[in-house]
Amino acid sequence: MRISRLAKWIGASALAALLVFPVAVPKLSSIAQAAEYVTIGTGGITGVYYPVGGAISRLVNKGSKQHGIRATVESTGASVFNVNAIRSGDLSMGIVQTDTQYYAYTGTGPEQFVKAGPDTKMRALFSLYAEAFTVMARDDANISTFKDLAGKRVNIGDPGSGNRSTMELLMKEYGWTEDTFKIATDLKPAEMAGALCDDKIDAYIYVVGHPNASFKEASSTCESHIVPVEGPEVDAFVEKHNFFPRATVPGGLYKGTDNNVPTFGPKASLLTSSDLPDEVAYQVVKAVFENLDEFKKLHPVLENITPEEMLQGNTAPFHPGAVRYFKEVGLMQ
Ligand code: GLU
Repeated sequence: MRISRLAKWIGASALAALLVFPVAVPKLSSIAQAAEYVTIGTGGITGVYYPVGGAISRLVNKGSKQHGIRATVESTGASVFNVNAIRSGDLSMGIVQTDTQYYAYTGTGPEQFVKAGPDTKMRALFSLYAEAFTVMARDDANISTFKDLAGKRVNIGDPGSGNRSTMELLMKEYGWTEDTFKIATDLKPAEMAGALCDDKIDAYIYVVGHPNASFKEASSTCESHIVPVEGPEVDAFVEKHNFFPRATVPGGLYKGTDNNVPTFGPKASLLTSSDLPDEVAYQVVKAVFENLDEFKKLHPVLENITPEEMLQGNTAPFHPGAVRYFKEVGLMQ
């Protein structure tokens, strides 16, 4: 758990005050105790993690006067960055794809997780909504199936993202490497739509909830469409990994994509570490679950979430503070 610099500063000031003005101490130290800062790692500002992280922090901060916890959000490279930063203690919590969660917790899959070994301190708070592995392509690039990406200029994802990690897994299923593409780029999510419409790339991959600002930007700036991700390789892939249910990008959300587009995808989940104090985990979970109606209105991807489903899809064990809340309200035995 990261105690913010401010809290440390307040602690140091309280100590200084103790030395210089002993009478001032009780007041200052009670301020220090009241300030428990948590930072939520999200994703790029054109994605969905960022506004959803903002929604979580808003609900937490509504109750700050009672529980003393203040939450802030940070825009990051997303899933892979977030699990690594939680592990190193730089973030108190973060939004992470459930496939990334599985590989980091078990120390399997992508090479870096195998190298790092199982992340035994990883703890789940709850899962959120279904994400879709989405391919957005320029209309003039002749891409109508996932296989058509071979030989094209494709943004396969920033190395800190879950996009990249899921894309690399799927590429293995197809027997592809980076050399399969004319160019494989690693732009950050906020740069992807611009690069597509400036004709620097033919397509980009985004594992993300819909609607989101990146696809709105691409589809309203240049002639582009979402490409279906299906076929025997995808069937085999989905069969092999039970954290990738089928998913659909609804038609009509973006110009150029009028019909539903089939694909697959993980869930987004909120993770932390066993180092987070139980009381903090409890209060964060409670703030979201008790204000679920308000939470659901804060972003369209949250519209259909249910408390029961928010306990599904995680590999890492729940944080004891989350378990305390779930038992209290009967969501867990
Ligand atoms: N799923 C993406 C990732 O982890 C981030 C999506 C988002 O920011 O909404 O890389």
